[in-house]
Amino acid sequence: MNIEKSVELFNKAKSLIPGGVNSPVRAFKSVGGNPVFFEKGEGSKLIDVNGNRYIDYIGSWGPHLFGHNPPFIKEALEEQLEKGVSFGAPTELEVKMAEIITRLVPSVEMVRMVNSGTEATMSAVRTARGFTGREKFIKFEGCYHGHADYFLIKAGSGALTLGVPTSPGVTNGNAADTLLADFNDIESVKRLIQANKGEISSVIIEPVAGNMGVVPASKDFLQQLRNICDEEEIILIFDEVMSGFRVAAGGAQELYGIKPDLTTFGKIIGGGLPVGAFGGKMEIMEKVAPAGPVYQAGTLSGNPLAMAAGYAALKHIEENKEEIYSSLEVKSAKLEQGLNENLKSLGRNFQINRVGSMLSLFFTENKVFDFKTAVSSDTELFGKYYRAMLERGIYLAPAQFEAVFVSTVHSDEDIDYTIKAAFEALKEIL
Ligand SMILES: *Cc1c(COP(=O)(O)O)cnc(C)c1O
Repeated sequence: MNIEKSVELFNKAKSLIPGGVNSPVRAFKSVGGNPVFFEKGEGSKLIDVNGNRYIDYIGSWGPHLFGHNPPFIKEALEEQLEKGVSFGAPTELEVKMAEIITRLVPSVEMVRMVNSGTEATMSAVRTARGFTGREKFIKFEGCYHGHADYFLIKAGSGALTLGVPTSPGVTNGNAADTLLADFNDIESVKRLIQANKGEISSVIIEPVAGNMGVVPASKDFLQQLRNICDEEEIILIFDEVMSGFRVAAGGAQELYGIKPDLTTFGKIIGGGLPVGAFGGKMEIMEKVAPAGPVYQAGTLSGNPLAMAAGYAALKHIEENKEEIYSSLEVKSAKLEQGLNENLKSLGRNFQINRVGSMLSLFFTENKVFDFKTAVSSDTELFGKYYRAMLERGIYLAPAQFEAVFVSTVHSDEDIDYTIKAAFEALKEIL
């Protein structure tokens, strides 16, 4: 595949942008090779600057549940474009957006729109601190909650693949309030709570972790977490920036039937534009300014273009719920089964974790249920697999500890072709 123009652009970009990219994992550092520069997205396909076509399984890292440029989002954007792109004042769209979020996710009684997932998680933790008057919080090893200082302690996603899970620039003071527990291990949570009695404001978790690869929490674990948080008056935060509107219309909390106190959103909620949100119980959200004293603000928060795209996406979900999630399940199950058959016929027992349209293939024969088991994956082998798939026109996330996202517009041919490509790729590298 000729990617000459991408090579040229990347060389130029490296002298102008740190690492040549505006978000680390895009740089292909953990898989090797030159990042591909894209010009266009069409449904399930991406077209690069040399005109090569790829079946895309990143979907802009999660937002594109309906593939690239779905007509109903494009139309909503065009309509808003005529009226103006930003007013810095309230609009009807923001009210409609809040209404639809609270309808789709009943634990969210009140919601604040922000501009990214990072802002959402940061503000949720601040709100929990303000509400409880306590400073410490618990996060889980391998979970990623954006790049606020106190989350960059053993974080997942790019922080994990680049080998700097704890970033320089994070102060000891910041790190001291972050308590680390093991995913799917309730005893590790109990120990921390015992040792910090009455000092913990919140527990934040990705109920379906997607940033150490896909690693679902067990229902029993989440239920016990819910119970402990109730007993200790700790705010339970579900970070559903990735799983929200992805694993079900009501997110992972609908799937598991467990209600958090606060939830954070991003990705799908913006229909491809930069949007995040946090919300939850009325009594907690009423602490947020200007209703309450916990400060939180944003010049472009609730931006009309972003709200138009996000609202169009959520409206589409609300109106086509059954069809969307059952078709995602069928397509994704087919992909999983095909990959499993590939592995079996090559005599390998590598692990595939999948929840709905989120999937990861780990290059390990161990069951993957937490951070330690996730990192037992052979990342060098993943790098080879990645490059072999890219060469065959399959665009996966360029790192082991990410998810494959299937969209509603991936066709049967797309999935069949992907399974076939994966067989050839695996045969070549094993
Ligand atoms: C992507 C992600 C974030 C960060 O969102 P940004 O929009 O990249 O700031 C936070 N939490 C989870 C679970 C995510 O997947």
